Amino acid sequence: AQERYASIRDKPAETLCGQRITLKMNAGLMADLPSLENSGAQGVGLFRTELQFLIRNHMPKRAELSELYSHVMDAAKGKRVVFRTLDIGSDKVLPYMKATDEPNPAMGWRAIRVGLDKPGVMRMQLQALIRGAAGRPLTVMFPFVAQREEFTAAKREMDKALERERILGHPLPESLEVGAMLETPSIAFSTDDFYREVDFLSIGGNDLKQFFFAADRENERVRRRYDTLNVSFLRFLEWIVERCANNGTPLSFCGEDAGRPVEAACITAMGLRTLSMRPASIGPVKSILRRTDLSELRAVINDARDRGEQSVRPAVLEYLRGKL
Ligand code: PEP
Ligand code: MG
Repeated sequence: AQERYASIRDKPAETLCGQRITLKMNAGLMADLPSLENSGAQGVGLFRTELQFLIRNHMPKRAELSELYSHVMDAAKGKRVVFRTLDIGSDKVLPYMKATDEPNPAMGWRAIRVGLDKPGVMRMQLQALIRGAAGRPLTVMFPFVAQREEFTAAKREMDKALERERILGHPLPESLEVGAMLETPSIAFSTDDFYREVDFLSIGGNDLKQFFFAADRENERVRRRYDTLNVSFLRFLEWIVERCANNGTPLSFCGEDAGRPVEAACITAMGLRTLSMRPASIGPVKSILRRTDLSELRAVINDARDRGEQSVRPAVLEYLRGKL
């Protein structure tokens, strides 16, 4: 199998029906960067910046971070890197920050909620990103946005950071895109204004799924109970795709399911055209996409739905048999 994946490394993820799917990789550590070359990824769709904060025993300094972000962009050699701002709290607790004792940390004070309530660290990070880009294009994504105003406020911080850098005479990014993760049902249901305000959206399927089914992604007893290929969840994804299309919002999917071949094929059949996954998954996902006709797969999914199946998995596995 490894050889099979190597042989398609430089080939496009083009389906049998001629759709080109963009496959990117998730990263967060310097050690991940060589994979950009080796995996055939078309960029970094999710750079989890919190990992750099989690591997230290002190808050990293701005200069340290900007150097690091600069290295990441160097290693990407012009391919786009989507830097997600700090997603701490919940399962990611910084050893040097006072832990908050919350009954439901996944639904607690985390990610952009911390960033907006205590903006010092977020400002420092935005400044480090701008300095790291130093005249190159910059892409930033805010995590766990649950209502529009949170994005607007975070974007305002970004504008202020740019203005400060301009006054200091530092080079500004050549271009800037600011997007949001779609990880809560609430933000999917926000008005069209939100879809137009963001430069792009990326579905964080791990969180979106846990909140859609109200099933903790860390809880083994309930985690496997709800299938990503459940008809309700697929319908939800399809509807998000539609809303993005209607509003001209670029959309990608970056949860773990993007790296699972069967799930990736189905997510693509629902209309997603950009997936971001761990580097080792790019080969297997590309391999199945290159042997799949999306309209056929879509018909299989629709038939299973119409028959009243709860999950389309059995039907899809039957169809994909031999392609896996
Ligand atoms: C997600 O929620 O799907 C996601 C990509 O973010 P994380 O797994 O880091 O929460
Ligand atoms: Mg998430």
